[in-house]
Amino acid sequence: MEVRAKKALGQHFLTDKGVAKSIVGALSASSEVRDVLEIGPGTGVLSGLLLEREDIDLKLIEIDSESVAYLLTHFNGMEGRLMEGDYLRLDMSRVFPGPYRVIGNFPYNISSQIFFKILEDKDRIPEVVCMIQKEVADRIAEGPGSKVYGILSVLLQAWYDITPVLSVGPGSFSPPPKVRSSVIRLTRNSRTSLGCDEALFRRVVKTAFNQRRKTLRNALKPLLGESANTSDPIFDLRAERLSVEDFVRLTNMIAGQ
Ligand code: SAH
Repeated sequence: MEVRAKKALGQHFLTDKGVAKSIVGALSASSEVRDVLEIGPGTGVLSGLLLEREDIDLKLIEIDSESVAYLLTHFNGMEGRLMEGDYLRLDMSRVFPGPYRVIGNFPYNISSQIFFKILEDKDRIPEVVCMIQKEVADRIAEGPGSKVYGILSVLLQAWYDITPVLSVGPGSFSPPPKVRSSVIRLTRNSRTSLGCDEALFRRVVKTAFNQRRKTLRNALKPLLGESANTSDPIFDLRAERLSVEDFVRLTNMIAGQ
């Protein structure tokens, strides 16, 4: 039995065993956190290697019932670990009681949503190793001043150090995707709080980038009251110029008005 690749589920199965080994090898072997979630195991090219690792306790979430059936018949030890369902709707507090790490060749069509969900649980997730579309990986890793620096770059960089692991061409998959792929590793930085209201910080970042061509004075109008004082030179800038620290300062200015 084979799994028929379904485009709507972002299914591109990795066929290059060497790449699979590098991805699984990028998940730190010296972590105290044994619990690991694999998102979207598909036909199990990563899962088989992950199940062999004695330093981790693996659980998996896969939305496609055909893949689930395949995994259950092709791998020993799937029973009790593999959940059928949508990661985006998964209540992680019911999966792991404490900290856990995340690995996966993410479905590219929902990779941003996956990162937003990871951020919601950031204090329990010390490490993420994932393959995503190269363009998204570049965007996430870029700093201020870059054209592709955006919402996810700021929100992820506030909490995670991001390092490139590997670049992968379309030929390593079946069926081949139209885009290049990158494997990246995110490790939680030592920050425990931002020094500003976190919910407002997210709103400021999102609102600022939603109209990224405008200066902050104009882009942030929806958040600023009529009488807001925008004389600080930071308001002359566009969102793409601001570092995480700048956004923190900006958030505190807005909170104080
Ligand atoms: N890890 C496999 C498959 C990658 S393709 C490999 O490397 O070959 C992405 C996988 O994510 C597919 O198996 C797809 O069915 C699954 N998937 C897509 N959306 C999902 C979701 N919301 N929750 C869980 N899995 C999902």
